[in-house]
Amino acid sequence: MAAANEPEVIRDKAAMRAWSRRRRAEGKAVALVPTMGFLHDGHLSLISAAAAASAGPVAVVVSIYVNPSQFAPTEDLATYPSDLAGDLRKLSATGAVTAVFCPLDLYFRGSAGRPTGASAGAVSCLEDAGGSGHESWIRVERLEKGLCGSSRPVFFRGVATVVAKLFNIVEPDIAVFGKKDYQQWRIICRMVRDLDFAIEIIGSEIVREADGLAMSSRNVHLSHEEREKALSISRSLVNARTAALNGNNHSQQIKHQIVQTLTEAGGQVDYVEIVDQESLVRVEKIDRPVVICVAAWFGKVRLIDNIEIQTAS
Ligand code: AMP
Repeated sequence: MAAANEPEVIRDKAAMRAWSRRRRAEGKAVALVPTMGFLHDGHLSLISAAAAASAGPVAVVVSIYVNPSQFAPTEDLATYPSDLAGDLRKLSATGAVTAVFCPLDLYFRGSAGRPTGASAGAVSCLEDAGGSGHESWIRVERLEKGLCGSSRPVFFRGVATVVAKLFNIVEPDIAVFGKKDYQQWRIICRMVRDLDFAIEIIGSEIVREADGLAMSSRNVHLSHEEREKALSISRSLVNARTAALNGNNHSQQIKHQIVQTLTEAGGQVDYVEIVDQESLVRVEKIDRPVVICVAAWFGKVRLIDNIEIQTAS
């Protein structure tokens, strides 16, 4: 039994579902905050948003699960940072989290693609699946293409599938996602709409370090020098928004300026795109609410960031 303000740690899917149903029977809304752990203030802001999301009493569940299905074999699953003990301390300190869901077995890659090393334990309890991998997927077909989907083609099917599983297990009334992962947030909104999940999705604003760098679990892998260079991302986004608000509505010009700033700083640009906030369709002219999305490598770390522009000129 957890002490007052100590979140209850739940690992089992059936126990999680039963816990949620009990909270609902007590008249509480259940709000879910999905994360991959190694928590920072950006994650904690989602908890505040979850706690504030309902006029009545809310039970906030934070899930911590490094989802292997969203990583391609060449990506950084094995080195993704984790610190469960630290995460639990931070969650307790908020006083706002009632349960932490740490499932072991939401996805099984199959013996052919099974990761080795530190990440292998995360899937081992599904060994009795007979070596055959997970074969049911949710695809949000148009939105998953473009932006991060271009260089990470299996990423969003992994995200959508595991988030759908979390929704089925936790059965939340509310779920909170950060706009830091803008495309992910829009994909989840679309999935909820298309598949009739009775869940309110909240998009929460990006939390930044004092110098502008968007908080990310991966920032820990940046050297001091790379971190300095990476400040060019937020700087170029703020400058781009200023230019757009001052009347420059030519996407190509603004994109070019951002690419130049990032490249001069030593970054390797994956993409810079200016897209409609809802449809994520590329716009030639900034004549509606848009978001400028950036992905760039600094050293071995791929960072993403974005800025919304509400102008309608
Ligand atoms: P992650 O653990 O990186 O999968 O992120 C879990 C959730 O936290 C996602 O909804 C992210 O968009 C959100 N998140 C991550 N970083 C930030 C940030 N700096 N500000 C706001 N939300 C964030």
